[in-house]
Amino acid sequence: MLDLHGVSAAYGKAEVVHGVDLHVGPGEVVSLLGPNGAGKTTLLKAIAGTVTARGSIRLDGQEMCGQPAHFRPRFGVGHCPEGRRLFAELSVLNNLRLGAFSRRDAAGVEEDLERVFGLFPRLRERAGQRVSTLSGGEQQMAAVGRAMMSRPKLLVLDEPSVGIAQRLKNLLFQAVREICRQGVSILLVEQDVRAALAVSDRVYLMESGRIAREGTREALSADDGIRRAYFGM
Ligand code: ATP
Repeated sequence: MLDLHGVSAAYGKAEVVHGVDLHVGPGEVVSLLGPNGAGKTTLLKAIAGTVTARGSIRLDGQEMCGQPAHFRPRFGVGHCPEGRRLFAELSVLNNLRLGAFSRRDAAGVEEDLERVFGLFPRLRERAGQRVSTLSGGEQQMAAVGRAMMSRPKLLVLDEPSVGIAQRLKNLLFQAVREICRQGVSILLVEQDVRAALAVSDRVYLMESGRIAREGTREALSADDGIRRAYFGM
């Protein structure tokens, strides 16, 4: 699945991610947690190809590092960036269809549209509505749905629950588990640590651009120092 080896990433000359190794296996939900400014978003951007990176970033053995961001869907990466980046004046349906822009298999696209509506029935009800008129939680569902429309092998989610109501947050994380059950691996950055731990199989802790610890949710949660320093428990 996803294998990062010695990945560094920089904005201009300022390197903010330093030599990260990370692995996401088939059928896994993996969280990347850590304090503000640790480099989590930047590492996700390196995987999505939207920031300059060095090292090796492979998906199912194919090297993606150095390849432009718009090739990522072909490799099998679906990216749901921080801040959603939807087209506010377009309908939900058109936003979803844009997620399939690089595909030629019309029948497959229709199938995936049904799959997204199955995951998020609310999006079906609001398919014709402009995205700007959706609630924050519904917009986040649309952003996840759009990333799913490239039929990814790996879904990369950056802070999906920011600013959304608890009930929609629950629906969103249920959908994350369901997406994983359908065979898509997930790499998640999330500020709600409890919600992240509840859906994750494994966790990486990031600090100052480096991976500080890695382990199963159970192993890390059992460590008092980590619970205090990272999980705020
Ligand atoms: P947060 O939890 O606050 O979102 P993060 O762990 O995702 O933090 P990043 O957003 O990856 O951290 O930021 C890592 C470092 O890179 C920070 O010091 C930040 O100031 C810097 N940085 C982020 N984006 C840019 C940018 N576009 N240009 C220059 N520096 C940036």
